[in-house]
Amino acid sequence: MNAQAPRTVKTTCPYCGVGCGVLASRQTDGSVTIKGDPEHPANFGRLCSKGSALGETLSLEGRLLYPQIGGVRASWEDALDLVATKFGAVIAEHGPDAVAIYGSGQLLTEDYYVANKLMKGFLGSGNMDTNSRLCMASSVAGHKRAFGSDTVPGCYEDLELADLVVLVGSNLAWCHPVIYQRIAAAKLARPEMKVVLIDPRRTMSADLADLHLPIAADGDVALFTGLLAALATAGKVDADYVARHTNGFVEALEIAEGWTLERVAAATGLAASDVQAFYDLFLANEKVVTVYSQGVNQSATGTDKVNAIINCHLATGRIGRAGMGPFSVTGQPNAMGGREVGGLANMLAAHMDFGDAAARDRVARFWQAPRLADKPGLKAVELFEAIEAGRIKAVWIMATNPVDSLPEADRARKALKSCDFVVVSDISIQTDTGACADVLLPAAGWGEKDGTVTNSERRISRQRAYLDLPGAAKPDWWITCEVAKRMGFGAGFGFENPAEIFAEHAALSAFENEGSRDFDLSGLTGLSAADYEALVPVQWPVGDVPAKRMFGGGQFYTPDGKARFVAVTPPEPRRPKPGHFILNTGRVRDHWHTMTRTGKAARLSAHMAEPFAELHPDDAARLKVAPAGLVRLENDLGAVLVRALVTDRQQRGHVFVPMHWTDQFAANARVDALVTARTDPHSGQPALKMAEVRVRAVKPAWYGFAIARQRPELSGLDYWALAEAHGGVRLELTGMDDPGDWEAFVRQVFDIADDAALLSVHDSRSGRHNFALFENGEVVFALFVSPEPVAVSRQWAVSQFAEDHPPATRAAILAGRPGADMPDVGAIVCSCFSVGVNSIAAAVTEGGCLSVEQVGAALKAGTNCGSCRSEIKGIIDAHRLEAAE
Ligand code: SF4
Repeated sequence: MNAQAPRTVKTTCPYCGVGCGVLASRQTDGSVTIKGDPEHPANFGRLCSKGSALGETLSLEGRLLYPQIGGVRASWEDALDLVATKFGAVIAEHGPDAVAIYGSGQLLTEDYYVANKLMKGFLGSGNMDTNSRLCMASSVAGHKRAFGSDTVPGCYEDLELADLVVLVGSNLAWCHPVIYQRIAAAKLARPEMKVVLIDPRRTMSADLADLHLPIAADGDVALFTGLLAALATAGKVDADYVARHTNGFVEALEIAEGWTLERVAAATGLAASDVQAFYDLFLANEKVVTVYSQGVNQSATGTDKVNAIINCHLATGRIGRAGMGPFSVTGQPNAMGGREVGGLANMLAAHMDFGDAAARDRVARFWQAPRLADKPGLKAVELFEAIEAGRIKAVWIMATNPVDSLPEADRARKALKSCDFVVVSDISIQTDTGACADVLLPAAGWGEKDGTVTNSERRISRQRAYLDLPGAAKPDWWITCEVAKRMGFGAGFGFENPAEIFAEHAALSAFENEGSRDFDLSGLTGLSAADYEALVPVQWPVGDVPAKRMFGGGQFYTPDGKARFVAVTPPEPRRPKPGHFILNTGRVRDHWHTMTRTGKAARLSAHMAEPFAELHPDDAARLKVAPAGLVRLENDLGAVLVRALVTDRQQRGHVFVPMHWTDQFAANARVDALVTARTDPHSGQPALKMAEVRVRAVKPAWYGFAIARQRPELSGLDYWALAEAHGGVRLELTGMDDPGDWEAFVRQVFDIADDAALLSVHDSRSGRHNFALFENGEVVFALFVSPEPVAVSRQWAVSQFAEDHPPATRAAILAGRPGADMPDVGAIVCSCFSVGVNSIAAAVTEGGCLSVEQVGAALKAGTNCGSCRSEIKGIIDAHRLEAAE
């Protein structure tokens, strides 16, 4: 990073859909400090662990800095010419539906807008889809079925005002931590506030819950259909509201009435008493917000789940009022912005649809589009199937990694490798998707690009640049416009900056709107460049309609202005085949998507440094899985090899594997390779939380743990997982065979020269082998090998590279043992202050700390971003009895 003038900007976090405001300050030495923006209405100064560590993800290591053609550095002229020529040639020969753009919720709204305009207005195909299809397409479809528009009715404040917050398929504590903290603070202030968690796993969000319902996978439609019946039976339906503002209640209730408590309990795998307890809470509290995210959306019945939830809110008129409403929280920072521009293949633009001839005519006139697409394009899974079948011959992938994130991910990789022409715009030089590209285009990253994002409460915020563009990197909007110009569309893409794009986007939202469409930025159409630069976070619509909450007046965007109940039928409970587990996938607290950014931060990797499979203790015992042993998960689609994490938070017969690990960070942990490409019939969203796998214990011949100053090449090992550490990397590795000549093996795998003085100790009785290499008195490499999982303290070992760490003796490092004066802090729980599990446990058992606040006072843990507070509480609970002895 070059030395630049000090500067602080107000910008927005690039990770989850909470959309927290960030104050980013660039110092003269090039370092960056990050703080929460106290004035941003999403977070009021809070940041979670990921947001707090943003400054540690900005190094240029691993950045794609120049265009590449066929793996060779190229000029922008050549790369852009090639993309334009190839796309033009494919369209000329095979028609517009033979090309596609696959975008991302990481794109800024302005980037999204021009990509969508190019594909749907000028190339003439609907084939512009996005990884948001994998995230919240079912919420979009559910909203449109119920409201006639893709509208999130409420705002974050409702979560604080509610008397009951229901979390469905949503691990807010880890996936939307700042919203979680806002709810936690509200509950602390009003202990009578209730929280219900509906999730197959007892996730960290259960810490806040008065009631946890460990629901069977895809049991949600049955649970909320039963709730609709219970509301009717208890006389809680708001008959006046239903009559005046809705349609379809009778049909929905007719199905619901067949769902007795017992039937719901059988379909959901829940105790009838627990179901009743949840229903009682919903009946007793008028102010209810039902929050849902990927556990609802990522399902073959996701849209029905959304409508089953909305049905209950419509029946009680609990929508558009303070502290009430269904609330979809998006996974990505700009999933909402993508929806607004029309970035999903079944949308046209600005909340207008392909199916509306007047809308097509309106958009074509507004864009002066020569060739407006007349039908929806292919949704993500279909789109990659079309690539596989050779129907799509040129694809441009922007800011996403489908080779890792799509279901049947190995098939997606094969499809891309077989595609005639693949363009990838990204910030990283090495991704699993980029490895399939004919052309790589270096995109601007967070901190370098300018534009807007929209968060889960419809709030548009600026992302502002405060760093120079590195190398030849360019913003995505610029790259798209340059290709468009080369294809002869200069008149439609002559934008000079993102402010001009935003102005056109706002103008399209207002064009011939007159209150007919919810997405309306008419109040922002006249923004000057200076206004755009100074834009403060604002909720849409920005026009005549109050934006804080939608639908409070009972008016919806359907032809008759009434909301629609959807008569959903709960699916048959899905039981796995004998001998199979249900595989659930998701996120961990400190990593984001495929780790291209969070994987750079040692602090974030310290929380969970390798991929894992979360198993119930009974299953682990039955499968003879050793503590910290390895497990292989496999099905007809593929296999992964990961570490076992045995915990009673998991249900029997279920296994959870995080989605983050790619071939860049582990030997074999791309879990979406195991997920079937089964999709929801309404939304096209794949069922990423419901696959079936066989699980078996794997007993390697040896386990290893290593620290190294440089990242080694690790091909050929059966298992490895690499994570950043301060000043180097840390590695877990294993092998199925004893290499015999250990020293030769270590020198070869870690590329250690023959004349380098590699120290080693071997214990033939225990089968342990330790190695260390020192340069100028400092350790540069150490490896600890054992027939059992290696017991060396990871935190002690990785701290050897830290600049401020007192050097351990050669003997201590070679032995893999800290001295008595250096206690093992254990796995890191609090990323902000590097406080480990052992330190927290000691504070409980020896220091008498029996609350999160007391642990915070003693160790500072949990006192900054607060993302670890639920884990701290779990450690306190686990050691409470010991402390009392
Ligand atoms: Fe970023 Fe965390 Fe806020 Fe999400 S909750 S926007 S990841 S700081």
